Amino acid sequence: MTTAITLKDITVYPVVEQQGPFFDVMEFFPTLTKELLEENRSWLEPTFIDPVSGLLVLCVQSFVIRTPRHNILIDSCVGNHKPRPARPFWNMMNSDRFEKGLAAAGLTINDIDYVMCTHLHVDHVGWNTRLENGRWVPTFPKAKYVMADRELAYWTQKEKEDPSGVPWITDSVLPIVEAKRTQIVKSDFALNESIQFIPTPGHTIDHYSVLVGQPGHDALITGDMIHSPIQGRYPELGMRADYDSRQAGQTRRKVFDRFCDASTLMCVVHFPAPSTGRVRRWGDGYKFVA
Ligand SMILES: [Zn+2]
Repeated sequence: MTTAITLKDITVYPVVEQQGPFFDVMEFFPTLTKELLEENRSWLEPTFIDPVSGLLVLCVQSFVIRTPRHNILIDSCVGNHKPRPARPFWNMMNSDRFEKGLAAAGLTINDIDYVMCTHLHVDHVGWNTRLENGRWVPTFPKAKYVMADRELAYWTQKEKEDPSGVPWITDSVLPIVEAKRTQIVKSDFALNESIQFIPTPGHTIDHYSVLVGQPGHDALITGDMIHSPIQGRYPELGMRADYDSRQAGQTRRKVFDRFCDASTLMCVVHFPAPSTGRVRRWGDGYKFVA
């Protein structure tokens, strides 16, 4: 089991929904060359690349932040009962892992005060809603769902143009808007001095990461600012679903440069468990250390 992270009076719990070898490495990183992959294979295997299948090992998870005042869920995985025909391993899931992970943090869906969506991709918004009598309703009855304004506008427009291309917006984002449960903010929003957003655009148009805690006792919940540590070594390496890979690379450099001499713990959604590390320089790039 993954363990909780304590930052003075704040506790961060990973809530894992899935982990496994899911994606072809070369497809996932379209500009990666075979030569560069081979050069790095020895340290990527077996944790980050599965030696048997050769596939990229990714985790799908949320982070729950318990503070003295609030319980906050950052991102909400894939969710149950959602038709995702394009992704067999996410299609019509029926799993109790998310709920069990929440319980391991001592919480139920009734205890969540805020759901913060770093961005509105399919594997980050799924548990926003659950099926009740054939309708998608907010999973967390008391929560406000915090979304960046330009991110929400972008995906709302996409859904209007072609709903079949973005089914997760239809079933996991728009029902939250219709239920008037969104809190729409700028991507540099701060809930208070211990919960602050950092704009990390590029992977999506208005992606944010969340800085949790106080200097010396803090963690950055990165969202999808980075997917695999090979993008630490080569910050310019884009992934196929990026909105703007060039900007995503600039964002990684800027953020890693800011934190590479700090004790700030990175909590990276898609890194395999324990999914955490501190950033340190590595040649012209960066690595993650315990
Ligand atoms: Zn993702």
